[in-house]
Amino acid sequence: MSAGEEPFRDALDAAAGHAREWLESQPTRHVGPRATAAELEAAFGGPMPENGLPASEVIDYLATNAEPGLMAMPSGRFFGWVIGGTLPAALAADWLVSAWDQNSVFRAATPATAAIEAAAGQWFLELLGLPETSDVGFVTGATMANFAGLSAARWRILERAGWDVNTDGLAGAPAISCLVGRERHDSIDLALRYLGLGRPVEVPSDRQGRISPAELDCALDRALVAASSGTDGFARTPVLVCLQAGNLHSGDFDPFLESITVAKAHGAWVHVDGAFGLWAAAVPELAALTGGLHLADSWATDAHKTLNVPYDCGIVAVRDGEALEAAMSVNPSYMIRDAGAAADPFQTVPELSRRARGVPVWAALKSLGRNGLAAQVRNLATRASQLAQELSALDGVEVLNDVVYTQVSLAFGDDATTRAVTARIIEDGLVWMSGSRWQGRDVLRISVSNWTTDDADVETAVEAVRKALAAVRG
Ligand SMILES: *Cc1c(COP(=O)(O)O)cnc(C)c1O
Repeated sequence: MSAGEEPFRDALDAAAGHAREWLESQPTRHVGPRATAAELEAAFGGPMPENGLPASEVIDYLATNAEPGLMAMPSGRFFGWVIGGTLPAALAADWLVSAWDQNSVFRAATPATAAIEAAAGQWFLELLGLPETSDVGFVTGATMANFAGLSAARWRILERAGWDVNTDGLAGAPAISCLVGRERHDSIDLALRYLGLGRPVEVPSDRQGRISPAELDCALDRALVAASSGTDGFARTPVLVCLQAGNLHSGDFDPFLESITVAKAHGAWVHVDGAFGLWAAAVPELAALTGGLHLADSWATDAHKTLNVPYDCGIVAVRDGEALEAAMSVNPSYMIRDAGAAADPFQTVPELSRRARGVPVWAALKSLGRNGLAAQVRNLATRASQLAQELSALDGVEVLNDVVYTQVSLAFGDDATTRAVTARIIEDGLVWMSGSRWQGRDVLRISVSNWTTDDADVETAVEAVRKALAAVRG
């Protein structure tokens, strides 16, 4: 670099140009990638270069060669898995987070990002109606949010049973009974596995995948009878119940009020996986889905799905902040702080060093406001109902779920036809929808998670399904 040259400007300008081009291509481009990872490895791999390139040339090379292998996930016509797009304010804030390069561990060292994340956490609790004194942590996604919430649960319920898991580990600890709905997301199992808690007990669910409170009641009775040997065993047996806000296939919600009442009567800690569903609590018209949600002990969600911030960003909230900090802090002495003083960012998440991933959440919420957030989430649900209604009017299309939120599961007669239609839709590239299996059947699953999905996208999606079905039927 010669004297006087601005070292960052060319690379950043190049990146901004490529980013704009990519985003502006979303409304019209083929949704799926045009090249496979194996094909692209030739462009990016080969022998390690002996000498380097100027930064802006690296960025040009990167963007140009990656382009055929990019999936149009930020498009309003992307309905795969459960994947949000990115709000402009959140994306731009994410760029600043990288440029600022603040390692957000201590409030005293990085006060700006600590304050921004604290504000984002407080707004989050307020918008979703969760207890406002809860501890909040910004993690990489809902899997780690589940892990963090369940870590707090494990610490507290063992502490109540007279066991210090931080000191004594799990070997010899009182057995923890974990109960989950049959249709919980696999990431709950993963989090329980990370925590050494093994396979949970499955509680039957209904045709929408909602846990049955009556079955939960029976399962809790059985678990406690099996676990309690002494006279005071019942109250002291550590019990954990995981509920779900937003079933992947039906979009539906566990009945929180009834389930939490039953769980609490058995002394359980209640954790809610609300990766995409928790945000329904921000919409007054959807209040019936989340009634009683605030009575749980811990909540996990993603910001990179329904809220539409860039990957990777999840949020954990725990009513019992002491438990979260006991589970996540490295030094218990840090837990002793002045009354009212806030936790340092590292005390509520598994990582020590990390980017300030809460900043894009703040930017998203600041750009939306309470009304904008409600409108965004409401729009996703409205588009899903619209899709279900228009698709069910087509000959040969079966909508399998009651569409109450953002998810629609379809079948086209037998499994082979459903799979063939799914493959055809993806090949045509007008939209992207995922194949899945639900309650013993192959399904085509539509998830409306992108803030830009509008009337025209819904129309395109209906037409894409109609065409693919016609082609498969010959
Ligand atoms: C996506 C999802 C998860 C996992 O979230 P990640 O962000 O992928 O870690 C967990 N639960 C549900 C219901 C989900 O939809």
